Amino acid sequence: MTYHTHSLFGFVFAVIIVKLLALFDIKDLSYLIKGSILNADLWKFYTAAIIASLLPDIDHANSKAGKTLWFISKPLKWFGIKHRGLTHSILGFILFALLSKELIKYNWINRIIWYGLLIGYISHILSDMLNVHGIPLFYPNDKKFKFNTNITTGSWGEHILFVVIFATVVLLIVSERGYLNFNGLLDFL
Ligand SMILES: [Zn+2]
Repeated sequence: MTYHTHSLFGFVFAVIIVKLLALFDIKDLSYLIKGSILNADLWKFYTAAIIASLLPDIDHANSKAGKTLWFISKPLKWFGIKHRGLTHSILGFILFALLSKELIKYNWINRIIWYGLLIGYISHILSDMLNVHGIPLFYPNDKKFKFNTNITTGSWGEHILFVVIFATVVLLIVSERGYLNFNGLLDFL
């Protein structure tokens, strides 16, 4: 998938997770939902999700993440890490979660940003499962996992997916501001 599809998917996924957390009324995060739209943490959270939604492709030298963080993507290649391998697996996610959690200790990020990073990373793995190639979820086991969608990178399928995701974001943002009311629909479901 191209980086704009991934970043959009990361953002939408973060919006949906925040919405779900609102349903469960988790205290720690309630200010993300009920607080001001200008809350700095809210935007840091979404930015973190978007950045992390690109990170698993660091295993590909020509990807956005690979080009930007070449000093990581090059050594990964030297160590024989292939595209859609370790970084696209549950093990890769756990390693990323542990490494990025270290940044909290050094006060480089706070816990909310860390949550954003984790959500963005998961969104990448999920969206790559829409791809025809699938991903090795249980790496180092090679078995590929994918949804039944068979979307090829840069294909019409991906463009349509992009439009659908984009429309979802616009609807979510519009509904958040009270212009559209989904409550009736939720009651119906
Ligand atoms: Zn990927």
